[in-house]
Formats: sequence, structure tokens, C-alpha cells
Amino acid sequence: MKKKDIQYIKGDKLKHFVKVNDPYLPKGSRHGVSICKGCHAIYKEKKWFIDEELYKTNIKKKTARIVTCPACLKIEDNFPSGVVTLGGGFLKNHEDEILNLVRNEGERSLRDNPLERIMSINKNKGRINIQTTNEKLAQKIGKAVYKAYSGELEYKWSEDDKFVRVNWNR
Ligand SMILES: [Zn+2]
Repeated sequence: MKKKDIQYIKGDKLKHFVKVNDPYLPKGSRHGVSICKGCHAIYKEKKWFIDEELYKTNIKKKTARIVTCPACLKIEDNFPSGVVTLGGGFLKNHEDEILNLVRNEGERSLRDNPLERIMSINKNKGRINIQTTNEKLAQKIGKAVYKAYSGELEYKWSEDDKFVRVNWNR
């Protein structure tokens, strides 16, 4: 184990956490190009991005490895990294506009980073649940709704920081 893979957290007890590699990142594709058969996202030089032209060229030349990207895998496995729950009386009266804001945030994120996506939006007993493929997007959605409509916003992180629950109420 390399030293930089261990994060020390100061406290009464010196705890250490081992940084686990994201199991959803493609293996052995550090060099060359991988493309996702699901969403056409391209993995190159450790970055995922969308480039439909490059996708077509690679498919034609058969130069890329065909994979399923981390976001598509999480959607297949129904394994979200973030869940946003919206609730409250104000939500009931402004549901459509708030949902528009949420979807816009999802689309903007997808353009910047194809791994940041909304997986599902469900309504349940007056609440709206939004699952996201990545924890940053869940935070962004919460922040955007809070910025536009104020209310109450809270983030709850899992111990390993890989999952976040975002609750907004108004
Ligand atoms: Zn994909």
C-alpha cells in the first residue's frame, strides 16, 4: 500500500481509512480509449466525456475497448451514490417548476461530466426522491433548489463519503 492511499483523521483515536478504488472504473484501460456501449461516453486519459464524433470514429475503426461506463453500471445495478428527497407543503404547490430545476441541473451536470447523472425521479406520499449516480450531483441539486426557493437543506454523508443523502424541505 502506498502512503498517499491512507488518509489520517485527527481525533482521540487515530483512525485510518484505506482509499478504495472505485470498482466501477474500467480496469486496464489506462492507455488507449474505452467507450460505453450504453451512453457513448468515452474514457481517455483517465477522463470520461461525451464526444459523439469521436465515438463514431472509434466504432468505425474498432480501436476502442467497449465497456459499460460507471454511470451506466450504477443505473443497471440500481446503485445510487446520492439520494435527494424533497418534501413539504411549498413543494406540493410548486412541484412542476422545482422538478424542472432538478432536471436542468441533471442535464447541465451530464454535459460537464457524463458520470454525473440523474438515475430516477420518483414521487412517493407527497415527497420526491431523486437518485443520482454521483454524490456531487445530489449536492448540486439540493443547493440549486435551496438557492431558488430557500427552505431547509441538510446533507448526510456515509462514513466513507461515497454516499450522500440530501433532504430539502419547505
Ligand atoms: Zn455509459
